[in-house]
Amino acid sequence: MSEITRFAPSPTGHLHLGHAFGALLAADAASAGGTFLLRIEDIDRTRCRGEFETAILEDLAWLGLKWVTPVRRQSEHFAEYGAALEKLKGLGLLYPCFCTRAAIAAEIQASAGAPQGPDGPIYPGACRTLAEEERAERVARGDAHAWRLDVARACEHVGDDLSFEETGQGPNGEHGRIWTTPEVLGDVVLARKETPASYHLAVVLDDALQGVTLVTRGNDLFAATHLHRLLQALLNARAPRYRHHRLITDASGRRLAKRDEDQTVRALRARGVTPNDIREQLGLTSR
Ligand code: GLU
Repeated sequence: MSEITRFAPSPTGHLHLGHAFGALLAADAASAGGTFLLRIEDIDRTRCRGEFETAILEDLAWLGLKWVTPVRRQSEHFAEYGAALEKLKGLGLLYPCFCTRAAIAAEIQASAGAPQGPDGPIYPGACRTLAEEERAERVARGDAHAWRLDVARACEHVGDDLSFEETGQGPNGEHGRIWTTPEVLGDVVLARKETPASYHLAVVLDDALQGVTLVTRGNDLFAATHLHRLLQALLNARAPRYRHHRLITDASGRRLAKRDEDQTVRALRARGVTPNDIREQLGLTSR
């Protein structure tokens, strides 16, 4: 099947073996007459750096990957994400949240039964119930705020029969047709003052806009996929199929992170490792 796939790194560090695995899987999935796209997810202007982007392109080329150019760079598309945000506001599905991170942490600390998501406690919802006048007044006077999705309302808006197709495996072996439970992540932030679009919003819009048919990515994002399916329904974006993959770990079983410099593609290259050695180490067939 001719798939349109993508690898979507954030240039906040060097690629490590886990990224190489994701990139190779995405490219391999498109190898039968499909298209492999590379997308630079650089909306967080405080953490992304041009030199990492250059290094990423170089490492991917060294791995033997070829992608379609020009590469889409998310930082060049804030206007499109902003328009989607306005649409969601217009549907009455977003609310301004004035809580600081410290205030949220204190609220979670104070309530024994704070709701938990797959990645820890979720937003307890202090701003969800603010009166409309107070919201308007505080936004008008310039109080710092983020925009959160009212997930319960959004689910109600689209109905409760949303699902996506998992062709790989979620963290608990999930496979096949998966019915979505986007509420597990809580009322996620879709925009902040300093970053006018969140990863969730940008990724959904871009995958649709670029005609991606199969999203391959680590199963740490499996819960996010539930939310993405909801955003697709709200924004009339076509849903791709998904293939979540296992995460690459170090010798002690700990998931690789950007700080693991000795497992970066650069470090492996410097030690004389070849692209085929990497494929072999990752259990992929050599090319
Ligand atoms: N930019 C995301 C990351 O580096 C990509 C996630 C995705 O593939 O959707 O984790």
